[in-house]
Amino acid sequence: MLYSEGVTILENVSLAQYTTLGVGGPARWFVETGDEEEILSAVRFARARGVPCFILGGGSNLLVSDQGFNGVVVRVAGGALDWAQAGDGTASITAGAGAEWDAVVRLAVEKNGAGVECLAGIPGSVGGTPVQNVGAYGQEVSHSIVRVRALDLAAAKAVDLVAAECGFGYRRSLFNTTERRRYAITRVEYKLAIGAKPLLEYRDVKNYFAEHGVAQPTLAQTADAVREIRARKGMLLVADDADSRSAGSFFKNPVVRVEEVRRLAAIAGCRVADVPQFPAGWGFEPEDCVVKLSAAWLIELAGFQKGFAMGRAGLSTKHVLAIVNRGGATAAEIVALRDAVIEGVWARTAVRLEQEPVLLGFAAAG
Ligand SMILES: Cc1cc2nc3c(=O)[nH]c(=O)nc-3n(C[C@H](O)[C@H](O)[C@H](O)COP(=O)(O)OP(=O)(O)OC[C@H]3O[C@@H](n4cnc5c(N)ncnc54)[C@H](O)[C@@H]3O)c2cc1C
Repeated sequence: MLYSEGVTILENVSLAQYTTLGVGGPARWFVETGDEEEILSAVRFARARGVPCFILGGGSNLLVSDQGFNGVVVRVAGGALDWAQAGDGTASITAGAGAEWDAVVRLAVEKNGAGVECLAGIPGSVGGTPVQNVGAYGQEVSHSIVRVRALDLAAAKAVDLVAAECGFGYRRSLFNTTERRRYAITRVEYKLAIGAKPLLEYRDVKNYFAEHGVAQPTLAQTADAVREIRARKGMLLVADDADSRSAGSFFKNPVVRVEEVRRLAAIAGCRVADVPQFPAGWGFEPEDCVVKLSAAWLIELAGFQKGFAMGRAGLSTKHVLAIVNRGGATAAEIVALRDAVIEGVWARTAVRLEQEPVLLGFAAAG
């Protein structure tokens, strides 16, 4: 253990314990704090040694290499939630980056604030939510984010970014693209609509309420339903569910030109209408209409089934989209399975899947 500028710095700390996949080697140096000054001190410590710094949240979207990370990992921990109601039918929750995201959802629905109910049960921290613009069941967190407070690690100062400055898109923001690793997010403000109806856009959620005979579910019922649906798919962290030892969806849903759907229907031998797809707006060129395909459907089309295993890495027995550590898996085994899925889907469909989790300690990722 070391001390630098009053900050406790641990050495050679296993990172597997800080990730939901439970895989990966050690961090050379490790700091846990929610304090902005301490984060900046840790950054200076890294700089003085000429090593990189990595900001860690809940580790639920992360694959750490078997070699670990030869730098300083700053785990952003702790953080309060502040509720403020405006007179115009809206309210806001301002949350410290280290707070648990699901606590924000619980507070929102308890106070009858709509906007994040379908994001219930997504693991990880508040600070992780803007990074890949978390989304589920038709909702994206970018629609609720007002402002992100972050430390600009290059300039060593705090900045406030309004949502329009965050570059949000499908599973993207400036934090995971153009300005990757530049910021440590310390606080996020979310806006909610008081008393508005829950979003019931996705089939799974609609079916759930149809089956349960609930015509007008409340926000709290919607959040609970989403958690239950997620649990059935192994997409909720449940201590005794081996299928939740994952990083959630390992692959993004590919966004393709609408004509691709016809080609894929021919490969699958099904009707165009039977290819799972969601409108994704207008795409690569102004005249292109694009759709979001289901990566899970493509993976199954390529012949991979739930529970498919390669060594100690496998696909979830509940959902082909999640790669699971079946017990003692190495990062190399996870990567081998990832590559087999990507190659298999490419060979069958000529669609290239992209990985969703962030890599740490791999040659290409740092
Ligand atoms: C079972 C399961 C289900 C999931 N379901 C979904 C889902 O439905 N939708 C979805 O979008 N995601 C889902 N995920 C992925 C994951 O939960 C989210 O991406 C989550 O927001 C990651 O937050 P985290 O705090 O765990 O981030 P980490 O995994 O710790 O980090 C991920 C990235 O965010 C960066 N980061 C984290 N905190 C900060 C910070 N304070 N400042 C700057 N950068 C930071 C890290 O540097 C890294 O680049 C799921 C994961 C699991 C395990």
